[in-house]
Amino acid sequence: MEYIKAKSIISNYIENNSWFSINYNMNIYKGCPHGCIYCDSRSSCYQIIDFDRVRIKENSIEMIKKELKGKRKKGVIGTGAMSDPYNPFEAKYMLTREALKLINDYKFGVSIATKSNLITRDIDILKEIQKHSPVLVKITITTYDDNLCKQIEPHVVTSSKRFEAIEKLSENDIFTGILLMPILPFINDSEENIKNIVRKAYECGAKFIFSYGMGVTLRQNQREYYYDKLITIFSNDTVKRYIEIYGDRYEYESIRSKKIKRFI
Ligand code: SF4
Repeated sequence: MEYIKAKSIISNYIENNSWFSINYNMNIYKGCPHGCIYCDSRSSCYQIIDFDRVRIKENSIEMIKKELKGKRKKGVIGTGAMSDPYNPFEAKYMLTREALKLINDYKFGVSIATKSNLITRDIDILKEIQKHSPVLVKITITTYDDNLCKQIEPHVVTSSKRFEAIEKLSENDIFTGILLMPILPFINDSEENIKNIVRKAYECGAKFIFSYGMGVTLRQNQREYYYDKLITIFSNDTVKRYIEIYGDRYEYESIRSKKIKRFI
């Protein structure tokens, strides 16, 4: 594991964050090995070299402790925006778990986005946090089909394992729902896929399904990566279709978006 220096880990206070009203943002890890072909964090604007390689911010737990201690305002700490806090290394290093313990000690709330079922390991701490502050878990599920999942999100557990995690979290009264995003045009935007996700979400006790738009955003570096993967997994024709319809736009809204919204 490579350690990197960081000036801080938890952001400054955010008043009105449109993403689930978090007040702080935190990333212990830099980079993510889950390999999602559409990952926005690969965009060149973030300047993360070799994104698929995980690095740990040096002294992260000591820093988090110091930073939480120094915060004048309590609030909800979000994690999972730029890298998954439950990457495979977390099973060994347990830094997210240690951070959650501190979040509990200092009486903050937490909002976690992940694609990994490893989060169920920390149900005990989430239950403790919930006694005094909000806890929100968002599990990303983009496809009901495990085979498609293995193609577009190759190095993380399949959707069916994530549904199991949602069920377990819900049974333990942790407020849990689904991030149904991104919607990839011609890949996961079929009515059948959405219908199956919604139905299964309900069966597993998910409290919400959230989708920020009905498409995917693509920009420099990440767009090229995504297109390369589309060619390998699907065909040249899929990319040609993207280029014909969207050109080099930033937002690629599914041509079925209206239908999907109505349907949901
Ligand atoms: S889990 Fe999230 S951060 Fe990791 S590769 Fe997938 S989209 Fe990117």
